[in-house]
Amino acid sequence: MSDRADRSDDELYASHTLAMGLEKSRFPEATADPRAVSSAIRDELLLDGNSRQNLATFCQTWEEPEVHALMDVCIDKNMVDKDEYPQTAEIEARCVRMLAELWHAPDGPATGCSTTGSSEAAMLGGLAMKRRWEAGRKAKGLSTERPNLVTGPVQVCWHKFARYWDIELREVPMAPGRRLLTAEEVRRHCDENTIGVVPTLGVTFTGEFEPVKAISDALDELERDTGLNIPIHVDGASGGFLAPFCAPDLVWDFSLPRVRSINASGHKFGLAPLGVGWVLWREQSDLPENMIFWVNYLGGDMKDIALNFSRPGGQIVCQYYNFVRLGREGYARVHGACYDTAAYLAGEIAAMGPFEIIYDGDRSRGIPAVSWKLRDGTDPGFTLFDLADRLRARGWQVPAYTLPPACDDQPIQRILVRNGVSRDLCELLVADMKSALAHLEAHPAQVPLGEAEASGFHH
Ligand SMILES: *Cc1c(COP(=O)(O)O)cnc(C)c1O
Repeated sequence: MSDRADRSDDELYASHTLAMGLEKSRFPEATADPRAVSSAIRDELLLDGNSRQNLATFCQTWEEPEVHALMDVCIDKNMVDKDEYPQTAEIEARCVRMLAELWHAPDGPATGCSTTGSSEAAMLGGLAMKRRWEAGRKAKGLSTERPNLVTGPVQVCWHKFARYWDIELREVPMAPGRRLLTAEEVRRHCDENTIGVVPTLGVTFTGEFEPVKAISDALDELERDTGLNIPIHVDGASGGFLAPFCAPDLVWDFSLPRVRSINASGHKFGLAPLGVGWVLWREQSDLPENMIFWVNYLGGDMKDIALNFSRPGGQIVCQYYNFVRLGREGYARVHGACYDTAAYLAGEIAAMGPFEIIYDGDRSRGIPAVSWKLRDGTDPGFTLFDLADRLRARGWQVPAYTLPPACDDQPIQRILVRNGVSRDLCELLVADMKSALAHLEAHPAQVPLGEAEASGFHH
């Protein structure tokens, strides 16, 4: 061992440990120098690309120094240990109360919890709908065999929810000219086995808000006509942290009595670091008792609702930091700057010529994003996949992908503007888009790239 150990005064990249590559499959026998190993791993991570230039992700890629410091302080805090870390638990409860107020829950105890993200939050919200539907059906002596869930074009977490819990997903397909769930389609797809309807506030594919109020009105009408009382769960993964600050007149939350639960991603427009989401129920009675595990907490009882057991606490502490540090005013400013930058991008991209803007980042209609397609009936000699590929050469990740059924022959491209995707960075991106277009014009692709060859992960 001693003859293999690196000397403390070794030049890092000339050290024994780094004379060969790191082990990649076999479990190593010996210990190694921490400085050398961590340097090699840091270097490897350079190949991941620069997250700040990743314009596909909705998640935070920039945090204030105070957040980094708090994350460090919280490295040992386990959310499940409410007895060991009572103040972390208290901070989570404060966030739940603040969100209940932000989303206009009726007076009464705030009901909800943190999760690892919107996916887990969706599982919990969806499961509560299923349990409430089952209880209602059983009380009437009716079958609980074939539950279904009605949605528009949803994020993949709802596909998982439906598959994991054996629920028929009635995902209303898009149609030419209709990219969102509409009140009429909701009525057509609901029946006595519908556990709930999920409109999305910020659809993954284009960034647009679905019309929660119109859907709620249609379900009120359905109840008047048929007696069916079908609840709404809003997937507010992005919009839940945008609309309250930037579109305060939009009616979408618990102010609609039919909205029984809401999920949102703290690590998207909640501005917290990766690993936190939220699910809230309108009232205590909307969360079935049998989903709650009671844990003893400093002599009292505390609810545990999450799917995971151990979970890091730092993200929740930083979420609280953001709420208190920014307030409504700060969230409106941070997100307002993103909407302004999205509008700038939409204008520039529209002026380039070959593109038609689908969604321009209008704050009353959706999230700070821009989506576009090639003009109908034109062939500029390249595809959006070629353009995405070309921008990748400058480090930009601007995803191109086809829409879901029944519009899956329509490629579109999208940029997400989040905190830190600054006006200045976007000016540089616009310049790179223009040179990419000039390049593609000068060198028309023999065989334009298709979706399979371009990396287009956009969830
Ligand atoms: C991102 C997203 C999700 C999944 O959220 P995570 O926090 O990544 O688990 C669900 N729904 C929508 C609309 C999203 O944008």
